[in-house]
Parts: sequence; C-alpha cells; structure tokens
Amino acid sequence: MIIAIDGPAGAGKSTVAKILAEKIGCTYINTGAMYRAVAYKLLQIGGKFTEEDLKNILENISISLDKDKVLLDGEDISDKIKDEKVSKMASKIATIKIVREKLVEKQRQMAKEKECVVMEGRDIGTVVFPNADIKIFLTATAEERAKRRYEELKAKGFNIPYEHLLEKIKERDKIDSTRKIAPLKPTKEHIVIDTTDKSIEEVIEEITDIIKK
Ligand code: C5P
Repeated sequence: MIIAIDGPAGAGKSTVAKILAEKIGCTYINTGAMYRAVAYKLLQIGGKFTEEDLKNILENISISLDKDKVLLDGEDISDKIKDEKVSKMASKIATIKIVREKLVEKQRQMAKEKECVVMEGRDIGTVVFPNADIKIFLTATAEERAKRRYEELKAKGFNIPYEHLLEKIKERDKIDSTRKIAPLKPTKEHIVIDTTDKSIEEVIEEITDIIKK
C-alpha cells in the first residue's frame, strides 16, 4: 500500500506522515530530506557546480533514511539539512531534471522493498506514484505555516523574526509551484486537507478514517 502525502513547505507533512506511518505500521519516507541531502552535498563543495559535477554526485551519492534520520554517505546529517541555506538550495536544485529523475528512481526503489509506505513530498501522487492507493494534499495558509515554523524555532532557542520566515515560505511556495517539472499541485484524486485550524491529532484521525474506508 502506498499513501502519498503532498503539500507545501510547513503544512505539517513530516509530523503527520511520521506519526501516521507509526500508527498503521508502515514505513515513513521523507522525500524532501533526499533533495536536502543533495543540496547539502552541493553546498559542501561551495554551492557552485557544473552539470558534470551534478551528474557525478547523483551517480555516487548514498542517501539512506531511517524514520527521521538521514544518512549521507554514512554521515548523520539529519539536523544539518534543516538549515535555511539548505532549504533554499533544495528548492533550487529540485527544478533540475536530472536531480528529479535520479531521486524519483531512488524513491520508487525504496518503496518497492516495503509492504506499506507513507511517502511525503511534493510530487508523490503526481509523478512518483500516480497510482498511489491514497493521495492526501496537506495545506495551510502561508501565515499559519510561518507561525508554526516561528514557534518551532523559538522552542529550540532561535528567535527568527516571523516576517522573515513568512517571506521564506512564500519564496519556496513560488519556486515549488511554478517550476516547469513536477510543479506542486493537487490532482483530482488528492484529498485536500486544510490544516490551518486543525491539530495534528485531528489531521491524523481524518487520514486514518480515509484509509479505513
Ligand atoms: O519537504 P521539504 O521542505 O523538506 O523539501 C525541501 C525542498 O525539496 C522543497 O522546497 C521542494 O523544492 C523539494 N522537494 C520536491 N519534491 C519532493 C520533495 C521535496 O521538489 N518530493
């Protein structure tokens, strides 16, 4: 069984997908972490790269995911890839055809080995698994998503202005939804859930009910 969870940055996809996967005994796959891992690698070489460099990196990179742990060539980069610079670079390289082709191939391979998968990203129900059993599109207003990010960072001791976070969210929304390849958009099979005024528990319950039907 494949459960696709798509949606914009900060809509709660990771939190919901992770808890849901655990609850129903499926494997959780965070595809955003894979784009972030490639972005992190490119930033490590200075952020400038030729098409040849990119091809080489994509051919040789080893990304493994275990729940929310992300290993890049054996190094645990789970926290490092949450950085704002990595987010920006991830959105940028996610517009490149060879990057998407390679990562989509890896994502399909990862799911093949499992009986049940909850996969979250931007193009899961459209490109990676157009025949997914269930397609959910999680969304929330940009203001609510920026507020959640602000509170999350504040709890970790970072006081980043809300306005700055809102601007970054809008910037990423624009790149993700206007790119030529696999733009972020729900299909008619996606069940759209607006999480603006909902708790994580409510969203999980709603998805669990959809699965049961
Ligand atoms: O989900 P997350 O915010 O971690 O993803 C980082 C970036 O990777 C997104 O802004 C998006 O540009 C890209 N991405 C994508 N397709 C996916 C997952 C993520 O283009 N399936």
